[in-house]
Amino acid sequence: QFIPLGVLGALAAVAAVVWLSRRRLSLRGELATAVRRREFHMHYQPIIELDTGICVGAESLVRWTRPDGSHVRPDLFIPLAEEHGLIDALTDQVIERVIDDMRELLVQDRSAHIAINLSAGDVSSGRALKVLAAKLAGTGIHPQQIWLEATERGFIDIQRARNTLAVARRTGHCVAIDDFGVGYSSLQYLQQLPLDALKIDKSFIDAIGTDSATSPVTSHIIDMAKTLGLFTVAEGIETPAQLAYLQARQVEFGQGWLFSRALPPEEFIAFHHQRLQQYGKARENFQNPN
Ligand code: C2E
Ligand code: MG
Ligand code: MG
Ligand code: MG
Repeated sequence: QFIPLGVLGALAAVAAVVWLSRRRLSLRGELATAVRRREFHMHYQPIIELDTGICVGAESLVRWTRPDGSHVRPDLFIPLAEEHGLIDALTDQVIERVIDDMRELLVQDRSAHIAINLSAGDVSSGRALKVLAAKLAGTGIHPQQIWLEATERGFIDIQRARNTLAVARRTGHCVAIDDFGVGYSSLQYLQQLPLDALKIDKSFIDAIGTDSATSPVTSHIIDMAKTLGLFTVAEGIETPAQLAYLQARQVEFGQGWLFSRALPPEEFIAFHHQRLQQYGKARENFQNPN
């Protein structure tokens, strides 16, 4: 019997949707177990001062390795954790791991900083800040050495976001807006937020030197950061041409595979020391302006 192609296509689409939602469902169960069993660890991607080549710190990035050795990407499981009430417990573990992994380095090198990503829920509740303060107490790490990254998804309730970010800065943390340019950011809206830095989303870095429609936007985004008096951090730098452009535009900091991928803690610490020897002593850069 002949079945029209359209029907086959529709069946395939339904099967795909069913398969995806079952996968999410089973992943959700697994995620809850993983949170309970603390199956997460952190990698650290070096952040480079673009005009000197010095490694000024790192962004911490959570990693989930399942018992069978396979990995799940954070952009898959972080939203899932947010949807299913697991994000608080996950963020607690992230904070704990970062401070334990990086304590020695941060106490040794006062100019180094580590950035922690906050989820939308963390920004709206502000709870993570209390957990962080409790964890930092007695470690000798200065709050200035912890940067916090928040995406615009966390700014749905602008009043709450502003509160959380203001508390963070009063405590001494630097606050960066993450994935800048992909959301709805306008100058007016950004001016309302207490910020120190903008992280330019990788999609704008990818566009540098191409003739895509996005390419001129990158330049405007850099101008915007400068107008607001914020540091700029470029994410996802992969080529020397992108680096040269960003240096010419005086973007202060950057990270990307051109320098290094995200590394396990010991490898990042070795990378940091090696860069210091190679490029000279770090400057005292990260003076929180408030
Ligand atoms: P993000 O905060 O924008 O992190 C940057 C992502 O770009 C990381 O992906 C990093 O590995 C990747 N990346 C950096 N340089 C390059 C490059 O040169 N080329 C390419 N192709 N990719 C590069 P990752 O680790 O998969 O994290 C994805 C997202 O998951 C993060 O985006 C962040 O939104 C979220 N995430 C990661 N760790 C955490 C965490 O501890 N807490 C929270 N709430 N979210 C996290
Ligand atoms: Mg980030
Ligand atoms: Mg980012
Ligand atoms: Mg990004």
